[in-house]
Amino acid sequence: MTAGHPSSVPFQDLPLQVRNLRTELDPAIAEVLRHGQFILGPEVTVFEQAWAGFCGTSQAVGVGSGTDALQFILRALGIGAGDEVITVANSFIATAEAISYAGAKPVLVDCEPGHYLIDPAAVAAAITPRTRAIMPVHLYGQPANLPALQSLAQKHGLALIEDAAQAHGATLADGRTCGSLGTAAAFSFYPGKNLGAFGDGGAVTTNDEALARQLRLLRNWGAIVKYHHEIQGYNSRLDTIQAAVLNVKLRHLATWNERRRIAAGWYRAALRDCPGIALPAEAPWCGRHVYHLFVVRIVERERDLIARALAERGVQTVVHYPIPIHLQKAYAGLRLGVGAFPCAEQAARSVLSLPMFPEMTQDHVAAVADRLRAALAT
Ligand SMILES: *Cc1c(COP(=O)(O)O)cnc(C)c1O
Repeated sequence: MTAGHPSSVPFQDLPLQVRNLRTELDPAIAEVLRHGQFILGPEVTVFEQAWAGFCGTSQAVGVGSGTDALQFILRALGIGAGDEVITVANSFIATAEAISYAGAKPVLVDCEPGHYLIDPAAVAAAITPRTRAIMPVHLYGQPANLPALQSLAQKHGLALIEDAAQAHGATLADGRTCGSLGTAAAFSFYPGKNLGAFGDGGAVTTNDEALARQLRLLRNWGAIVKYHHEIQGYNSRLDTIQAAVLNVKLRHLATWNERRRIAAGWYRAALRDCPGIALPAEAPWCGRHVYHLFVVRIVERERDLIARALAERGVQTVVHYPIPIHLQKAYAGLRLGVGAFPCAEQAARSVLSLPMFPEMTQDHVAAVADRLRAALAT
């Protein structure tokens, strides 16, 4: 081991982030305990306005999770039984499940090699008279090919719903921010995301005021005025305590994203000529990749053996995701077998997410790079 290298590197370090913010977080949480408005308290409105401002939209609506944010967008748009929504095979299963919850059919398509983002040509080929929406995923913190998808959505009169659960603060090359690029966008504040709460949470951003009103109904049993239920809705609000935490953390998000980008640069330099791996590609339409994850591809060796060798050397890694959605038992009903989406299946076999968190030091990155080289050499 090189002098100065940490003995182990965690995949991320949420307790460290909390320790660093304790003096800001404690009074924010204490204020919620003091006023006692635990549901839809003032912190929720403050956060919604701040989050809309951060994303460059007029509206943000806090909900219980990113999954509900996706589902509620579909329901608010009236998308359900008999409708098809096109999304990508290599995402977290929540993307497809939100479509199923709404009663619509997820139509999966393949990604493109290199950056593993949804392939617009595959989307175009999957459009039918039943298609109502396209749901791209800004995977790993990088915007999907929105320029191409926007023109497709426009041409066919489809809603464009961003799954921005991994892309807080990511931008297109033209400077526009993820969350403001389509009809509406879903964010997750699951603790491990670039902006994470102390539990589950989510939000929808949109410029459509009528849609935002519908989302406010859906999250609160169909009522904006208590006990006046305009539609049948759900119980899925962003908790006041979570909003208080997010208000504190949002002040740091831009800095944290910048640190992630710096760590990604250290990885690229340390692994530039490393045989046996492919570094993550930045797409030409990407302005700011926010590196929710730093995902390399193991090209010549068995990925799981490399992951195990790294674990033995004290480096924690994760696979996002080991089984594409079309090969999950839960979606056997789609009747899509092995070979349906070669790029998504290649990703599932070979991708490996290296440690990535804003508090990472250059020594952390150097330790991971050294141990990855050693693992690849055995
Ligand atoms: C985390 C995530 C979700 C789900 O968000 P939850 O808040 O956990 O419900 C959806 N899509 C993607 C791509 C995600 O990474």
